[in-house]
Order: sequence, then structure tokens, then C-alpha cells
Amino acid sequence: MSDTSSHGGGAGARPECVDVVVVGAGFAGLYALHGLRERGLTARGFEAGGDVGGTWYWNRYPGARVDIESLQYCFHFSPEIREEWFWSERFASQPELLRYFNYVADRFDLRRDIEFNTRVVSAVFNDVTNLWTVGTDKGDTVKATYCIMGTGLLSAPYSPPFPGVEDFQGEWYHSSRWPHEEVDLSGKRVGVIGTGSTGIQIVQTIAPEVEHLTVFQRTANYTTPGINRSLSKEEQRAFNARHDEWLGDVHGMFSGQTSEFPAPTKSALEDSAEERWRWLDERWVRGGHPQTLLYAYNDLMADQESNDALCDFVRAKIRSIVDDPETAELLCPKDQPMGAKRVPLEFGYFETFNRDNVTLVDVKSAPIERLTASGLRTGGAEYELDVIIFATGFDAITGAMLAIDIRREGGPALEELWADGPKNYLGLMVAGLPNLFAINGPGSAGIKANNVLGVEHGVEWAMNCLDHLVANGFDRIEAVEQAQEEWMAHSNEVAEASLVSKAGSWYTGANIPGKPQVYMPYFGGWDRYLKICEEAVAEGYRGFHLSRTSGKADRRTVAAQ
Ligand code: NAP
Repeated sequence: MSDTSSHGGGAGARPECVDVVVVGAGFAGLYALHGLRERGLTARGFEAGGDVGGTWYWNRYPGARVDIESLQYCFHFSPEIREEWFWSERFASQPELLRYFNYVADRFDLRRDIEFNTRVVSAVFNDVTNLWTVGTDKGDTVKATYCIMGTGLLSAPYSPPFPGVEDFQGEWYHSSRWPHEEVDLSGKRVGVIGTGSTGIQIVQTIAPEVEHLTVFQRTANYTTPGINRSLSKEEQRAFNARHDEWLGDVHGMFSGQTSEFPAPTKSALEDSAEERWRWLDERWVRGGHPQTLLYAYNDLMADQESNDALCDFVRAKIRSIVDDPETAELLCPKDQPMGAKRVPLEFGYFETFNRDNVTLVDVKSAPIERLTASGLRTGGAEYELDVIIFATGFDAITGAMLAIDIRREGGPALEELWADGPKNYLGLMVAGLPNLFAINGPGSAGIKANNVLGVEHGVEWAMNCLDHLVANGFDRIEAVEQAQEEWMAHSNEVAEASLVSKAGSWYTGANIPGKPQVYMPYFGGWDRYLKICEEAVAEGYRGFHLSRTSGKADRRTVAAQ
């Protein structure tokens, strides 16, 4: 499957040396390019996809939709964007998100700095010149003093290496490489492998269209109901009117997201069983991002007994929706705390299993053995299929960065530095790799809060840092090894102290055979994370080593060489 749609990007000769190379044209890449241009810095952007949008460019499978409220899951830096753009739904669909990206790229004329259909394959830092040499799959290279990696958390798709894929005579697709042209599933026997957020969205969307849908589930998932609705312009104007106050509130919250319910102050165990049911049900019927439920009490992610009570509630809901008791039982997650894996938002998913044309197959007890010419074989049976959809996830958080040969000349590659799991300082920089900013990478808190806020924070931190370097005559910043060690120890400690690390998932690397297992996001709280990053800056970039290397500290001078 290849990517067929593409945008030409900017025209004209490209400078061979710039201040900054920006990798990716999703939220991070676009905001970084905008920030750099505002500072008069030269930049070149590279994007493997054919146009802007990042995850929303690639994930165009049926039913793709955001699970954080649209008003929160968007850029917050620009009052112009907020005034001009209106979301049509509480949870925007992928096509609307893609329109948003196009609007932002046009609004700030960002495409002229981006080369599309161009994958960055290497980035090598030279200590003497203080420059990164960035190579692409087209064979081009560009030099830059700084690199900003906006490569995304969920951008390296994972397909289990089932034998027989080449034998299968039907069509197969990975959800994250869905074709741009329409895929007609009507009247077809379709199999979906995977029941994470993606599989759930696909299943609930295509079931009415296909002749028969077979859902291959390995692990059942806790979910919460989305309850989508249209948004009025008045509602958005009201949100915008108190936007800055809202942002202040969010930045003071552990969860990094607001809901219509106030932040919790009591333990789940303080309520009687009846009170707890009422309290949780009030949130369940209103729907919203899973955090609405996960933060219904203040100890759901800290105390097993409290979390068990939440799990009982969700299982009771599933059993009340699904008619067939055996299917309902299979759909009830049992072997993990709720919230340890990312909780998908569903829109009628469980009701789908009451349809006559939908079958649930447990591939934990009878794993998928292989694809055959006419379908798929598990330990238990053979399934005849016309189309197979892999909703099998991503080599998340580190996969896209590790696909690039990143190293300091003569030094170890990032792959070696991260051989036991990703290490960095504040989720922002990796010791040993100067002048390279990772946006919303491992160790950052946006992953567990709101990714767009995470991206905005990472980009703004990098921009402020560049301002500081220029103002003080520096041209190099590097994370200090000791600070990195301490940060990693703290990050591991807060994850271990909670229930989030108690299940294998893409957060821990467990979904990829052989990947080192570490809880990769920072789970000390969005509010605490912001404070720690701010304090490091206020204390003169504590934990970073800043230096002047060339005597030509103005990056524009370096870039012009
Ligand atoms: P995922 O959560 O990693 O789910 C992958 C699914 O594939 C799991 O059900 C997994 O089973 C299954 N699987 C993997 N290998 C398998 C094998 N060999 N045999 C059988 N089943 C196998 O990936 P995802 O659903 O693409 O979601 C990833 C993340 O993307 C989400 O958590 C979310 O953050 C984001 N996302 C968000 C939205 C949204 O609503 N905005 C939508 C889609 C995705 P196991 O659980 O047993 O490993």
C-alpha cells in the first residue's frame, strides 16, 4: 500500500544549511515552523506523508475520530485560529481534523518550508562544526544547528508478523496506512484484528455496512462512552471568551484536561456502593474523555481496591448492553486495572455485538496462527474473509525516532543509548545528543494528558530556549547525564507508585515483541511536569549544559556558512 495523495510543498531552491531542521508536519512540526519563522530563524521541514496532519493524515480508517474534546484537542497558542475556526462536533472526525490542519498550514503559509513525501533517515551531529547533518530517503542532506523532532507518538505502525500474509488472496489494510481512495466494504466478509482504540472505532463504524464482521480480540478493553454531539458557534464563543482562564485551570491540573465535573477530592472507598454507582453513572451517561471517569475519585489510579470498584462498574455496564452472556463475558476486561492501558472512547461499540452479522473471536485462548489464501486460521478454526484489517497498533513513542539513525559523530546511535529503554531529561533532550529537541517524546507528560498541550509545551520550551541561547551568546545546549539519571529515576518512581505501570501496553513497550519495557510517559501529573520544566529554566537551565562553541554564536551566521 502506498501513499498516493501528496502536496508539493514549497517551491524554489532550498538552503543547504539552516538554523533548524524540523521533522514531521503534524501538530509539533507546524507549530515549530511557525515559531521559528516568528523569530526570523531559517528552517526546513520534512514530512514522510504527502501533506500536513501527522497522525490525522495517516489514520484515515473508517470511524477515525478524536477522543479528547475538540475544543481542547487543538492549538491554543493562536487567538486568530480560535476566533476563525469552529468545530462542528464535540469529538471531531478525522476529515474535520485534516481540514483543520490544512487551514492552519494555509493560515500561516507553512507549506513553503516543508518537503513532503520525504522521510528523514539520519541525523548526525558534528562537535567541531556544531551542526547536524540530516539525510533524507531522497539522498539529500541539509545541515542545521538544531533539530526539532516532531515525529509523533503513534506514527510507526506495527503489524504482527503473521505467516501467510503473502498467500492471502483478499485485500488487507493496516488502519494507519489506510488508502486515500474509498475502500468499499459493503457485502464483504471482513475481519478486524485488534480491539484497541482503533479497532473499536472501526468495528462500531463498519458493522452495518459489511456482510459479516469477525472481530479477533486478544485482550478486552475498558472503555467509556463518547456521547458525541454537534457544537454550536455560541458554545465555542463562550469557551473562547474564557479561554485563558481555562488554560490556567488545565495547567494546574494533574490530568491536563477539564471536564464538566470538578477535580475529585475524595477516595472511591469513602462512598458506599450505591453512592459510588450514582457518582460514576452520572459521569458515564454524560460521556467524555475517559479521564472523566478515571478522575471521578482521587485514588482510582493509585489504589487497587478503588480501581477494582471502577472496573466492576464498567463490567456491569458491558453486561447490561451485550445480549449474549458469553460474548459479554469475553468483552469484559479482567486482567488489568482500568487506566493502565489507554482507555478507548466508544460510540456504540458494545451494541455492535448484538448484531446478527458480528462475531467475536477470542484469540487469546486460540491465537492467530496464520493468514491463508482465503482468510485466517486460529488455533481453534479457519475463518473465510474477503478483507482483513490490522488494527494492531504502533511501535509507539520511540518507534519513529529510532527509525532514524540519530547519533553524535563517533558516538553511539540513539538505538544504543536507548537499548534498555528511552532515556532523556524532562522528556525534552537526550544526554549525548546536543541541540536536539524531542517534542512530546518519551518522558513527557502530554502523552497522558492532552497531546496537543504536550506538543505546545515542548515547542514553546524549545523556542524559549533558542531565545535564551541567542540572547546569551550560546549555540549549544545539552542535557547533563546526571540530571537525566535523576529524572529517569523520578519518572520511574511515580509510575511505579501508581497503577498505570501495572499492565503491558504501548505505554510500556509490551505490545512490541522484544522491545525494552519501561513505562515511557511521565505520570507525575501535568501540573507537576510544567512546574519542574519551568523551575529548571528559572534556575539557569538546571540539568543542561549551555556553551558557546564556534565564536559565531549567532545561528544565522552559522547557517549562512
Ligand atoms: P493498540 O491500543 O496498541 O491496540 C492494538 C490491538 O491489536 C490490541 O487489541 C492488541 O491486543 C492487538 N494485537 C496486537 N498484536 C496482536 C496479535 N499478534 N494477535 C492478536 N491481536 C493483536 O493500538 P491502537 O488501537 O491503534 O491504539 C493506539 C493508540 O492510538 C490508542 O491507545 C490511542 O492513544 C491512539 N488512538 C486514539 C484514537 C482516538 O480516539 N483519538 C483512535 C485510535 C487510536 P493486546 O491488547 O492483547 O495486545
